[in-house]
Order: sequence, then structure tokens, then C-alpha cells
Amino acid sequence: MAECEVIIVGLGAMGSACAYHLARRGIRVLGLDRFAPPHAFGSSHGRTRIIREAYFEHPLYVPLVRRAYGLWTELEKLTGRSLFRQTGGLMIGKPDSVVVAGAVRSAQEHSLPHEVLPGAEVRYRFPALHPTDDMVAVWEPRAGILFPEICLEAHLTLARNLGAELHTEEPVLSWEGNGDGVRVTTSKGAYHAGQLVLTAGSWIQSLVTDLKLPLVVERQVQFWFEPKRPLEFQPERCPIHIWEHEPGRFFYGFPDLGEGVKVACHHEGEIANPDSINREVRPEDIEAMRAVVRQFLPDADGPLRSAVVCMYTDTPDGHFFIDRHPAHPRVLIASPCSGHGFKFSSVIGDVLASLLTGGPMQFDLSLFKDRPLKAT
Ligand SMILES: Cc1cc2nc3c(=O)[nH]c(=O)nc-3n(C[C@H](O)[C@H](O)[C@H](O)COP(=O)(O)OP(=O)(O)OC[C@H]3O[C@@H](n4cnc5c(N)ncnc54)[C@H](O)[C@@H]3O)c2cc1C
Repeated sequence: MAECEVIIVGLGAMGSACAYHLARRGIRVLGLDRFAPPHAFGSSHGRTRIIREAYFEHPLYVPLVRRAYGLWTELEKLTGRSLFRQTGGLMIGKPDSVVVAGAVRSAQEHSLPHEVLPGAEVRYRFPALHPTDDMVAVWEPRAGILFPEICLEAHLTLARNLGAELHTEEPVLSWEGNGDGVRVTTSKGAYHAGQLVLTAGSWIQSLVTDLKLPLVVERQVQFWFEPKRPLEFQPERCPIHIWEHEPGRFFYGFPDLGEGVKVACHHEGEIANPDSINREVRPEDIEAMRAVVRQFLPDADGPLRSAVVCMYTDTPDGHFFIDRHPAHPRVLIASPCSGHGFKFSSVIGDVLASLLTGGPMQFDLSLFKDRPLKAT
């Protein structure tokens, strides 16, 4: 049976970063994936992801995202690839909305540069965006766009160069703890390691069937529309934007990077199973998105260029899940990121590597662990 120090199951956003950060610490790593990442079957495809700092979900994410920025920059230097484009960002909604009030709170607590703009000023400065007069926007200059498939490839390439063994098209079928480690069985063989990391994204529940993880997989569609006024959507004039357009209802959008204006709803997707999810985009999916676009981005309401289905893996409170298996301390579970994890994957890879090697931990992870889990 092949031996290594750590086995990683799932080489998507989190697993690829973890492989890199372990390999750079000199740890013997085996990474396994059922597909050949980057692929379009999980949660990390669709050409763009937002990164932002004035984190409306909770101020505790701010130190993590700051470190993530640093690590993305480092990765760009090491690989010579362009992974990030700064556009600035707008969080738009009523003054007391989750998105606006939360972004202001994080910005104030962490002294982040920001401005609160009235709706009319947003319309003037960013003519693509049409907030109503009772909306405001929190402007943050450092926000921008990550290119997820390239980021993932960068982590995998560096991990491989540093000696990580990465097997693709090799699904993990099961694992079991034994005295001094963990045994993992795949479609092609069996492996033994001191520790196991489960970063299987939307498939995580199939690998911990003994736990009642309170997770839900959600179908999400990403759309690219042809803009009617292309100049308004150029990255110089159109930052990334996240809207709470009604209480508890969110959508977001990107400038046109040459492929059309990308928009998507945040949540509101149907509950799905990752193995049987409907990957066809239906007319009703398009119509629901267009209704929002017509109201708030009317100049993006041109022909649909493309659309693709993706998956969120949601926790009940929307915060991440990073913790040891309660019955198997050699097994670390990390990935259900409730639709906002990509930007953090660089730092989560580093955090996981520290947890696995007993290194110092500089971040407060209390939001992500000690969740009410029971082994059955
Ligand atoms: C439409 C959409 C938009 C998003 N927008 C943003 C955004 O703007 N900003 C942001 O920060 N985040 C965003 N997110 C969230 C972010 O993309 C995810 O949190 C992140 O990509 C999840 O990474 P992951 O590693 O957990 O999952 P994945 O990247 O899906 O990786 C899981 C991997 O596990 C593998 N796997 C599963 N089961 C097995 C098995 N049994 N054996 C071997 N391998 C297995 C899979 O093949 C896959 O490669 C968005 C997500 C979606 C879907």
C-alpha cells in the first residue's frame, strides 16, 4: 500500500491550495480527485470570482482575506500568471441591509478605506448600475476579480513542482481510520497516510456518511449577457457589485471582460444532489435573472451569450466549515463555503497546512468549527 504523510481528497479550490501549502512545507502529499481539475462539475468554474475586503458576512473574515490577497500576489509572482484584476467594488442596498450595514461594520472595525455613496451618485459615477434613490452603496477600492480556473491550475502546478503526487480521474470510494493513520480506497487502489483532508466540496457528505452534516447543495446559474451599451461595462467604469435588492435577496455582477456581462443570483437556487444536478439552463432560469437585470442593470439586457450551472455547499449560518472529524482526529474536513469561499482558498490552504503540521495559527477560526456534529 502506498504511503505518504497527508492524503487530500478533492483538488478543487481548497484542496489544490492545501496541496501547495503542504508541499512547500516539505510534507509528502498525495492529492486525489474524481475529475481532472480545473473542471466544470463542482464549485470553482465560471471564469471569475469576486474578492473583496469590507466583508459584510462578518468582520472576522477580514484578517483572512487580507492574508489571501497577499498569497494571491505571491502566487502570481511564482507562476508569472495573472490571477487578479482590481476593479473596486460596490455593496449596494438599503442603508440597513445586510450587505451595506455589514460592509460598513467590517470597514470601520478594520479601518478599511471605504465611502458610502448615495444611489444618485452611484448612477452618475457608474452609469451601468441603476440603484433606486433609497439605496446606498459602500465603495471599496481594493475589491476585484480572481480567475478561478487559473488560480487552481497555479496551485496544482506549484504543488506538483514541489513534489506533491496528484492523481486525477481517481474517485475516492471510502476511507477508514486505523491505529496510526488513515487508509483510503479509490477506484484504482489503496493508500495509507498519517492524516486525511476532505476538501470534496459538494460531495463532502458522501465521504462522511457517519456524520449528520447540516449541509445543503444548491444549484446556481452564472449568466453572461451581451451589453447594449458596452462602454458602460468596461472594467474601468464598472466595478464588481453585490446587491441586496430586496431584504434577504442578493445578486452580483462583473464588468465585461470580453465575454459579456456576468451576473448571477446569490442563493435562491434549488436544492440539488451533486451527482444528479440538472446542468441544463432552463428558460425560467434565464427569465428570473433577466427580471433583475432589467431593473438594476438595464443596459446589460441584451442577448444571452452563455450560462453555466455551478454548486454552492451551504451551512445553516453561511459560515465555513473547517474542523476535525469528531471521531477521527486525523481527519480534517474543510470546504463547504456557502458560495463565498473562493477568494479565501489561498489562505485556507495555508491554514489547513498549519493545522495538519501543528504550525502556529494566526487566525480566529471560531466561526468555522465546533459545530454541532455527532458521529452516528
Ligand atoms: C456560481 C458560483 C459563484 C461563486 N462566486 C464566488 C465569488 O464571487 N467569490 C468567492 O469568494 N466565492 C465564490 N463562490 C464560492 C467558491 O467558488 C467556492 O466556495 C469554492 O470554489 C469551493 O471550493 P471547494 O474546493 O470546496 O470545491 P470544488 O472546487 O468544487 O472542489 C471539490 C473537489 O472535490 C472533488 N471530489 C469530490 N468528491 C470526490 C471523491 N469522492 N474523490 C475524489 N475527488 C472528489 C471534486 O471533483 C472537486 O474537484 C461561488 C460559487 C459558485 C458556485
